[in-house]
Amino acid sequence: MATVTKINEIFSSIQGEGPVVGYKQLFIRFCNCNLHCNYCDTEFLEGEIFTPEKLYEKITRKYELKNLHSISLTGGEPLLSVHFLKEFLPLIKDKTKVYLETNATMTQELNQVKDYIDIIAADIKLPSSSGMNLFDKHNDFLSQCKGIQTFVKIVFDNNITEEEIDFCISMGTKYDIELILQPKMNNDSMSVSSDFCQKILDKFLQKYQNVRLIPQVHKFIEIR
Ligand code: SF4
Repeated sequence: MATVTKINEIFSSIQGEGPVVGYKQLFIRFCNCNLHCNYCDTEFLEGEIFTPEKLYEKITRKYELKNLHSISLTGGEPLLSVHFLKEFLPLIKDKTKVYLETNATMTQELNQVKDYIDIIAADIKLPSSSGMNLFDKHNDFLSQCKGIQTFVKIVFDNNITEEEIDFCISMGTKYDIELILQPKMNNDSMSVSSDFCQKILDKFLQKYQNVRLIPQVHKFIEIR
């Protein structure tokens, strides 16, 4: 039986988060997720079924991959489709870079495809904003990212705790990874004040300097 997965949408746009902000990417949004974050605002029920070959044909027919910074695998959680990715990623190898946006909890699945991943955007979920404590899973996941350009994204709000800050710093230090602080959004505006953002950035900087504060830029310039 053919390997298939359900894809919610495929579109080209500008990356609005993290260190590659501003680069043009092709976004492939996978349906479904293994988590249920409090702040998740995306429905993943609808989607089209693709085989790896059908997806490859569709994106190479419609988009000039060489003009893009990378293909962003996003979701949902793309690593839920690991069997699909094992067949799809070899097809696009050498055509463009692959950027994986992940909730950083599916370590075994990452290990099956990491040879094809160029950049990992790893979300660390803070219990205060996501409602879940996934610190052990995040630690396992980040331990397997060595050799791949990786950064950690931390979505925070007013409830961020000292313990959470210390955990993020310990992960950054242990794996020598850049931390990106991203204020949680309420629709199109930040849920925290600019003063609070600076206070949290300063708290990180007291103990760890490889950290930046980058809001979701695409929401300010009104693109997807
Ligand atoms: S990991 Fe992302 S897609 Fe999954 S529930 Fe959390 S916010 Fe939503």
